[in-house]
Amino acid sequence: MTESRNYRLVHGGGNDAEIPHVLVVGGGYLGMYTARRLEKKLGAGEARITVIDPNSYMTYQPFLPETAAGSISPRHVVVPLRKVFKRVRVLGGRVVRIDHADRTVRYEPNVGEPETIAYDYLVMAAGAVSRTLPIPGLAEWGIGIKTVEEAAYLRNHVLNQLAVADSTDDEDVRRKALNFVFVGGGFAGAEAIAELEDMVRDAIRVHPSIDQSDVKFYLIEAADKILPEVGPEVGAKSLNQLRRRGIDVRLKTFLESAVDQRIKLSDGTEFEAGTLVWTAGVKPSPVVAASDLPVGPKGHVDTNEYLKVNGVENAFAGGDNAQVPDGNGGYYPPNAQNAVRQAPVLADNVIAALRGGEPTAYRHKNLGAVAGLGMHKGAAQLFGKIKLNGRLAWYAHRSYHLMAVPTFNRKLRVLSDWTLSLFLRRDFAALPEMAAPRQAFEEASEPRIVEDGQLRRVS
Ligand SMILES: Cc1cc2nc3c(=O)[nH]c(=O)nc-3n(C[C@H](O)[C@H](O)[C@H](O)COP(=O)(O)OP(=O)(O)OC[C@H]3O[C@@H](n4cnc5c(N)ncnc54)[C@H](O)[C@@H]3O)c2cc1C
Repeated sequence: MTESRNYRLVHGGGNDAEIPHVLVVGGGYLGMYTARRLEKKLGAGEARITVIDPNSYMTYQPFLPETAAGSISPRHVVVPLRKVFKRVRVLGGRVVRIDHADRTVRYEPNVGEPETIAYDYLVMAAGAVSRTLPIPGLAEWGIGIKTVEEAAYLRNHVLNQLAVADSTDDEDVRRKALNFVFVGGGFAGAEAIAELEDMVRDAIRVHPSIDQSDVKFYLIEAADKILPEVGPEVGAKSLNQLRRRGIDVRLKTFLESAVDQRIKLSDGTEFEAGTLVWTAGVKPSPVVAASDLPVGPKGHVDTNEYLKVNGVENAFAGGDNAQVPDGNGGYYPPNAQNAVRQAPVLADNVIAALRGGEPTAYRHKNLGAVAGLGMHKGAAQLFGKIKLNGRLAWYAHRSYHLMAVPTFNRKLRVLSDWTLSLFLRRDFAALPEMAAPRQAFEEASEPRIVEDGQLRRVS
C-alpha cells in the first residue's frame, strides 16, 4: 500500500506541495462545474485542484431515458472531464474514506494500489446512488437508470426481449419477455417507461409475430400520484396520458418480490417479467458514511446556506450528497437545477476561504420542471405558473436540456441525433453481447466437435 501523506509524492516533484490543495470528490454536475470555476478564477500559484471520480466523464443524467430509448447516443450524454479542464488534475478512482480531521482521503485508483492523499480544502460532490430496498430478488434481477452504462444496457436488453419473444413459440417465454416492470413514478421512472414504451411501439413493426396488445408495461408507484416534480395538475394529466398509451400504472402499490423474475405486487398480482427497472429514489453516495463529516437524518452531508459543512473548517458540499437549507425550514431538492447553480457559489466560497473573503449564501427559486415522455410527448411546469402537457411540453423539455447540456460540442452532437431522428426511422439494432464482449472470443477458443451430426462443446 502506498502512503502518500504528501501529495507531491503521489504526482511528481516540484514545489507544488506548498500550494493549497483543493480536492473535489466526484466529477458530476457539482464537481465538474465547481472545479471548472475554480481553475478559471484561481491563479496557478493559488491552488492545485484535483477531481477524483471512477468515471473519466460527467454524465448528463436527464438524457439517460432518451439514451435508453436510442434517441441520443450514449457517447453524447457524457462530457470527458480531461477535455473540460486545463489544469485540474483528474484521478480515475474512488474515494473510500475521508478523514477530514486529518485532511486526508483514502483513494482507490481504478488500477493500482490504494493511496492516501492530503488536501487543504474538501469539496464533497459525490452525488447519489439508487436507493434500493431489501426486496427478495431485486438485487439479482433489477437495474437502475442512474448511469450511461445502465441506459445503454437497457436499450439493448429491451430490444433483445422483443427478439427473444419473436424467436419462440413457447407462450411462457414470450409472455415473460414482453412484460416490462418499472418501479418508481418520479422523474426517472416516468420518463424511462414512457421513452422505452415509445421505442417498443416503434420496434414491434419489425417483429412480425408480436402485436402491440402482447406487450405489457407496468409502472408501480407507492404514492397516489406520479411525477410530483411537475405539480398535481400536470402530474395527473401525465398519468392519464400514460394510461391511454396502455401503460398499466398502479398507484399505492409496492413490489413485494422478484425472486427468479417472478413479480409479486402488494395488490396480489403475480407474473413473470424479463425486465425490472428500479427508479424508486436515491440516497447519498456511500462515501459520505465513510467519512468523519457530520450527516443529517437521511445520511446527507450536513451543510449550511454557504455550502460549508457544518461544524468543521474548509469542507464544502452540495448537490445530491448534501442537505442544503432552503431558508424556509426545508432543504433544496436534489436535482441538477440546484447542483448546477450551487457550483459557482460553492467555488466562490472556496476562493473566499482561500483569500480571506466573505462567503455568499446559496439561494435559488425553483424554475419548474420539464419531462420528456416519448417522441412529441412531455410534461412541464414552468415558474410555478405555466403548465404544459403533450407536444408543447416536449418542446420545452428539449429546448431546456439543449441549453443546459454542457459544452458546445455536446449540444451539437445531441442536436444532430435529434435532427437525424426526424428524417430516419429509429434504429432497432440490439447489441446485448456488449455486456459480455469477450464471449465470442472465448467460445472460439473452446474446442468443439461434431457428435451425432451436431456441434458440441468438449467439456
Ligand atoms: C434518469 C434521471 C433523470 C433526471 N432528470 C433530471 C431533470 O430533468 N432535471 C433535474 O434537475 N435533475 C434531473 N435528475 C437529477 C440530476 O441528474 C442530479 O440531481 C444531479 O446529477 C446531481 O448532481 P451531483 O453533482 O450532486 O451528482 P452527480 O451528477 O451524480 O455526480 C456525482 C459524481 O460523483 C462520483 N462519485 C460517487 N462516489 C464517488 C466516490 N466514492 N469517489 C469519487 N467519486 C465518486 C460519481 O461517479 C459521479 O460522477 C435526473 C436524474 C436521473 C437519474
